Amino acid sequence: MTVLAVDLGATWLRVSPFSGAPLGKSVYRLSEIGLESVPEIIASAGKELKAEAIGIATAGPLSLKDGWIRPPNLGNVKLYLRNEVEALSGIRVYMQNDCVAGLLATILKGDAGSSKNVVYITFSTGIGAGVMVDGHVILGKDGNAHEVGHLVLSYSGDIRCGCGGLGHWEALCGGKNMVEHFRLKAGVNVHDARDIFELARLGDPRAIAFTEECMRINAAGIASVVNSYDPEVVVLSGSVFLGNREQFINGISKYIGDYLINRPPVIKPSSLGDDAPLIGAGLLAELKGVLP
Ligand SMILES: [Zn+2]
Repeated sequence: MTVLAVDLGATWLRVSPFSGAPLGKSVYRLSEIGLESVPEIIASAGKELKAEAIGIATAGPLSLKDGWIRPPNLGNVKLYLRNEVEALSGIRVYMQNDCVAGLLATILKGDAGSSKNVVYITFSTGIGAGVMVDGHVILGKDGNAHEVGHLVLSYSGDIRCGCGGLGHWEALCGGKNMVEHFRLKAGVNVHDARDIFELARLGDPRAIAFTEECMRINAAGIASVVNSYDPEVVVLSGSVFLGNREQFINGISKYIGDYLINRPPVIKPSSLGDDAPLIGAGLLAELKGVLP
C-alpha cells in the first residue's frame, strides 16, 4: 500500500510517498511557495503517486470535524486544508496535529517501547505536544488537546506569542519568538534561534544567561506537562532541540526537579529526528485515521 505523507510545519512543507517509511521526500519553503499553494502541491503529488490515502501532519490549531487549520505561525489564516486537498485530488485525507503524528511515529516506530503513557514534545518554530494516556491518544473536542506551547509560564510576561497571548511558553522559548525575546532581554539582534545557541557555545555571557533561563522555562513547561499527564516516557524532538540536544537535556535535567510533583519520567531525544511528524502522517494514512 502506497500513501502520501505530508508534514506542514511553520517553515517547511514536506511531502513524501510512504510505505512503512518515507520513500524520498520533496521539501518546500513556505515563505517561497505561499500557504495558498499548499493544497494544490499536496493534491498533485497524491494524484501522481496514485496514492490510496493522504496523511497530513499539520501545525495547529485545527478542526478535525471541519477540516481547517489556523496556525499562528502561518499568519493565523484559516485554511480548509483537508477539504481542499480532497476536492482537488479525489483522495481520502487523514489529518492530525503534527505533534499527534510525531507521537504516533514515536509509539509505532520509535522510542516509547511498550509504554502506554507517552508524551512527545517538539521544540521548533513553536512548541507543541502529543500525548497518550493509558494507551489512548488524546485529541480533545477539536483535535487541539495538546497546545502546550500556549501554557502561561510567565504571568507577568510581556513577550507576545504568535497567537497574540502574553507569557506563553512558546512566546518565551519557541524558536521563532526566542529571537525577539533575546533582543528585548539582551539587546542583541540575531537572525534565528541557532545564532543564540551558537553565541552561547562561543562563550557570550548574554547568550549563556539567556539560554540557561530558557532551559529553566523549558524544564517548568515539561514538568507542567508531566504533572498533567503522568507519562513514563517523554520524547523530545524538533529542529531547535535536535540542533542543541546536549544543552536541552543537561538544562532540563538540572531544573525539572524544582517543578515536578509527579515521579520523574524517562526523558530522551527522538531517534526519528525531524522526520517524526512525516512518518506519523504516513502511518496515519496507512491506519485510515484510526489511532490507538
Ligand atoms: Zn500562544
